[in-house]
Order: sequence, then C-alpha cells, then structure tokens
Amino acid sequence: MLETLHRIVQAVNAAPDLDTALNLIVKQVKQAINTDVCSVYLTDFEQRSHVLQATEGLREEAVGKVSLPLHRGLIGLVCERAEPLNLDDAPSHPRYHFVNETGETSYHGFLGVPIIQNRRVLGVLVVRHREPRQYEDTEVTFLFTLAAQLAGAITHAKASGELNGAGETGAQAPTRFLQGRPGATGVAMGKVVVIYSRADLDAVPDRVTDNPEEDVALFRGAVDRVESNLRDLQSKLSDDLPAEDRALFDALLLMLGGDTLVTETIERIRQGEWVQTALHHTIESHARVFDEMDDVYLRERASDIRDLGRRILTYLQSETPQEEVYPDNTILVGEDVSAVDMAEVPSDKIAGIISASGSSSSHVAILARGMGIPAVMGVTDLPVGRMEGREVILDGYRGRVYVSPAPSVRTEYERLAQEEKRLSEELEALRGEDSETTDGVAVSLFLNTGLVSEMSSFSADESGGVGLYRTELPFMVRDSFPTEEEQKNNYANVLATFHPRPVTLRTLDIGGDKPLPYFPVDESNPFLGWRGIRISLDHPEIFLTQIRAMIRAAEGYRNLQIMLPMISTVTEVDELMSLIHRAHDELLDEDYSVTMPPVGIMVEVPAAVYQIEALARRVDFISVGTNDLTQYLLAVDRNNPRVAELYDDLHPAVLKALMQVVEGAKAYNQPVSVCGEMAGNPMAAVLLLGMGVESLSMSSGSLLKVKWVIRSFSRSRASQLLKAVLRMENSEQVRSYMENALDEMGLGGLVRPGK
Ligand code: PEP
Ligand code: MG
Repeated sequence: MLETLHRIVQAVNAAPDLDTALNLIVKQVKQAINTDVCSVYLTDFEQRSHVLQATEGLREEAVGKVSLPLHRGLIGLVCERAEPLNLDDAPSHPRYHFVNETGETSYHGFLGVPIIQNRRVLGVLVVRHREPRQYEDTEVTFLFTLAAQLAGAITHAKASGELNGAGETGAQAPTRFLQGRPGATGVAMGKVVVIYSRADLDAVPDRVTDNPEEDVALFRGAVDRVESNLRDLQSKLSDDLPAEDRALFDALLLMLGGDTLVTETIERIRQGEWVQTALHHTIESHARVFDEMDDVYLRERASDIRDLGRRILTYLQSETPQEEVYPDNTILVGEDVSAVDMAEVPSDKIAGIISASGSSSSHVAILARGMGIPAVMGVTDLPVGRMEGREVILDGYRGRVYVSPAPSVRTEYERLAQEEKRLSEELEALRGEDSETTDGVAVSLFLNTGLVSEMSSFSADESGGVGLYRTELPFMVRDSFPTEEEQKNNYANVLATFHPRPVTLRTLDIGGDKPLPYFPVDESNPFLGWRGIRISLDHPEIFLTQIRAMIRAAEGYRNLQIMLPMISTVTEVDELMSLIHRAHDELLDEDYSVTMPPVGIMVEVPAAVYQIEALARRVDFISVGTNDLTQYLLAVDRNNPRVAELYDDLHPAVLKALMQVVEGAKAYNQPVSVCGEMAGNPMAAVLLLGMGVESLSMSSGSLLKVKWVIRSFSRSRASQLLKAVLRMENSEQVRSYMENALDEMGLGGLVRPGK
C-alpha cells in the first residue's frame, strides 16, 4: 500500500494541471482498492457547493456539471465533520441524497474522506461499491493518508492549470490570487524572472528560445559528451563490475542512442522551447510513462531516465553559463529566494520578490524591507517553473500574488500605488525633524544594515547611526573567508559613512538560514544548532580575525561598538570578552593606535531573558533581537511558511519577555535597544516606547514611519496603551487594539494601505 500511495502522490505532484492530477487519482485509487467507483468532489467556496471534478466509474458527462449544495448529502456530511465516513449501505443513511445525473443508482458501499489543507476542507475523495461493503480499516487509512498528502498537490496543480489558462492580458484570470505571507510592504507590478538551483531538472523554468538552431547544437554537444562520458565509465569499471551491473550503462546508452529522447527534445526546441526547458519536458514525459507501470523493475527505469536528464542538464549548464537578463521592474521568483539571489539583481531593475518558502523574518525579506522592495513570502502553491516572463502584481501588505492579472485588478492596484506614493510624500516631510515624543522624550532611531552592500545617503543622514550591521553578507557572496585586510576596509567604510555617529558591528552570525558556501554546516535543526557565537567560539581564528579587523577599522574614527549574537550562557560572554581583549592587546603590541570599543550582547534566546542581570553586568549595552527571540520563545521556525501564522512578535509572551529584559537591564543602568524587525513596526514601536526603550534600530524603509508615530504619541500615552495590552491574552487582541490606537491618531495608513 505504501508504495502505491507514494506512486500516486508522486504522479500527482508532477501533473501539469488539476484535471490531469484528479483523473490520475481516481483511476489509480479505484484500482488500488479494487472498487467500482472513485470520484473527487471539490468545494467551490464562492458558489457554496461541491462539484464533481473527476470520476472513474460514474458518468463522465457529469464531471463539472453535478454540483451539490454545501450541506447536502453524504458529501456535505463528510465536509461538515471533516472526518471519514464509511457506510456499507449508503442509501439507508438519513443524509443520503440521490443524484440522478451521475448514474449512481445502484451503489451501496460508500467511503468518503475529506481533503484538508490548512484546516480547510477543500473537497472529498469518495469510493463507492455496487454491493454493500464496509471498507476495511486499512482501506480507510490508505484513503485518509492519501487525501492528507494530496491537498497540497491539488492546490498546486490548480494554480499551475490556472496559469496555463491565463492569457497575457489576464482576461481569463479574473481576480484570483495566490496567497503567501507579507514579506515587505508595498505593491509591485512587473515581469517575472525565475531563479532556480542548478543541476535540478524540476527547477528548470519554462522559457522560450532566442535561437533554436544554436540550442539544438548545444543539446547535441551535451548528448555527445554524456555518451562518451558513460562509455568511459563503462570501460573503466569493466574489470570490477559484474556484467549485470554494467548492463545499466548499456540501458542508459541505449536510451541516449535511441531516437525518441533526442528527436523529441530537438522538436520541442524547434517549436520554440529553450533547450533546458525542452529537455526537462521530454525527460518528464518519458519518465512518467514508466512511473505508472505496475512492474517494480520497469518503474525503476523512470529514475534512470531522470538521471540521464540530469547528466545532460549538467553539461548544458556548464556550456551556457547563465548571464541573466533582468528587465525593468523585475519580479524575482523562486522556490527559496535568498539574500544573495536578491543582491545579484541590479538595484534599479528589481521591483519585487516572491518566494515559495520563507517568511517575513527570513533574511531576504529583511533585506527587501531595507531596500524598500515589496516581497511576498511562503507562497506554497507557487508554480515556480511556470512563472517565467509572466506579468504579476504582488501585494506585500496582504501577501497576495496576482499572475497575469485582470484589468480590474490592475486598476485597483494602480490606485493603491498612488496612495503609497502620497504616503511616502507625507513621510518625506519628516526628514530632518527630531524623533521626539509630544512630551519631549527623544527616541534614537538607528539603521539596520549590512545585508545591503551600499548605503544610501538618505538613510545615513536620517538615522542616529547603525544599530545593527549584519556582517554576514560580505562573507556570503564570496568563495572563501575574507582576509583581515578586506574585512577592515569594509568595516572602515561603514564607520566612515556614519562617523561620528555610533556604528554597531555584529560579529559573524552564520548558520541557521545563513550558510556560507565554503563552510558547509549540514544539520537537521540548523536554528538550534551550530550558529552565530557558537561557531565563533569553536573557531577562534575566524572570530579573532574579524575582531582585529573591526578594531583596526575604528582607528581614527572611534565610533565602533561590537555586538555578540545568539548568547545563551554567561560563560560564552566571558570567553568572548577575553578573546576581544586579546585581539585588542595584540593590536596595541603591534603598534596600532586602537581603543577598546564598547561591547554588547543580543538577547535572542529565552535563556538570556532569564539571566539578563548576570549578562547586563558583563557588557556595555543590550540589544534585543526580536526576530530570533520570537522564534525561540514561540518555537516557530522563522522561515517555515507552514507555521508562519504562529510567528508573531506581538504575542503576549514576547511582550512580557521584553519587559523583563528592560527591567533587568535597568538595575545595572544598562541601555536597552531593540534591533529586530519589531522595532520598525509602527504599532510595536509605540509599545516599546511605553516600556521605556529609547533606542530602536530598523530597516531604512521603516525609519520615517516610526518617526511619525514617535512624534504623534506622548510617552505617557504609550505607557497607558502598553498597560492595557499587557493584560491581553492573545496577539489578535493586541493587534486590533493597537490598530485602533493608530487609527485614532490618523496613522492607520502606516500599517494598512488605503487607511
Ligand atoms: C534578530 O534576531 O532579531 C536579529 C536582529 O538578527 P537576525 O535577524 O540577523 O537574526
Ligand atoms: Mg538574530
């Protein structure tokens, strides 16, 4: 059963559209449990009905026509209860509803299981039997398990199919959108460029060729190289391998030499497909034929074909190093867009980002906010391979993506873009104004940077300095560790730009979702693993080089502060402090005229909250990294779209932890700042002000918005709001209370467009 299940799910995942996927399901399920009928009903939420979407056994003409009101019949019952229903004689059940058009008169056995995604019943998978039949427990669990795995594939196939149907003008794609999570606010319209990982056939996007004959020649060259490579391997292994194992090479060579793979790919190229796209489609269509075979041995041939495809692709990709062309208003789309992918696009070309994975606290989203580029994250149904070249609108406020949008959607978003423009003009007026509450409390606003390679002069002028410089990016975009000299030059550049204002350089915080290509860390739980300061302590040579570079960079500027991420024990601080002192002393010995900079820690791990006094005693300042603190307090991976709904920095537990940090640090006269994304959220900033935090560090796109709220509220009003909020038990209450408070001041537009 497990194998059948696996095979069905795999085939459905590869289906190009919903109809193909559903037809595959009904056919294979009917066969697998040897019954008379298998059908799928999908819920049409707008029409409040269940529509027969595919069947094997009932009348085919009824597909798409038969529709049952939401609560009618046994299908309605399965949906209402969201549980399987197993009846040996369906017609005698009080909820049985007879449907004439399907020709289901004579069926007695009934088993219906709900197809559920994100708590929502999307439809019902039903099997029927002519004779009375109580389906066995193993059959129920088979269908149940299958339905649970199918929900995602069904929504994915639906999205792909809708894209196929949508013309360039979008006339047939009325107002549908794909739902993700807001990554960076704003609205963007533009053309998709798909980024994809290499040597992965499934990741190859659908592109058209500019020059078919050149592509054909490339393809033939790659096939020749694979062929000779296989022959070499075969002869090299001929002494060591038994004949039956060598037969694999014969089989692969036969497939290559046989006409169909090659001619079909060439035909596709001549019909306009790009060489890699054509290869992907040919390999998939051949492999799928084998996927569906019952014989295990023959089914294995599917993976041989895919292996062959991957080999050809590798040669193709090495022959055609991809010089990406980015059109104006590029919308970067990918399964997992990274900060580095984004940094590769010229900043005057990029208009938006859509990532199938990740969430608002992924580093790419943080970078997007820093650069004022709208982003939607965690669009799990995104048919990435089919997006190339599409016109899209992305709504970074609500996390929506419209592909080939209808004119009415376009008009609505053009209006919204106008409103955004008006808001940013209003914000412009705040430039150069003090960041001070109505009762005279000065709140310092600092900049988070470092993911952005260049510093715009606007942010440099507008901020009180840098509250968080993430040193990772310069490490990420290279193929080996930067030298002390290179790092020194980089840091000196930042220190000079902001001089005499303070610049807080954070030591290397790799691991988690920030791997270095040349320092692989392969862990099953990277966020709970070897990350940040833990790596620094295990590799003092990396840490010392960085600290030396930082201290040397400050020679002549003296505006450096050093910040240590991911602290979870006091011992870590003690050890790191002694390394920093060592680097400083070494530099003095080497005749550099350097000074010991202030050193602070980030509170990002719950353990640090509970030991705040002991930590505060040891350092010069405290900065709360609410992105990680939220992740670790709520046990929610900040990059996982499945649980993104639970990731919320307005959760009462996060607010209480922050209160504890502020109180604890106060006892040691230690200033507390907040440098997580929370600091840049206008409503959260009011609460932080209420707590007594007087230093906030944020992405440059948030600076003026936060300045606006600071200038609109008094500290005492903020304290009152905080007091009320601390009595609340969930973040929804907190959010709506704070939205009201902002609305009352006419500031609703800062958190929601059109307000
Ligand atoms: C944080 O965790 O809040 C933080 C500022 O650090 P990063 O987002 O780089 O992990
Ligand atoms: Mg962090």
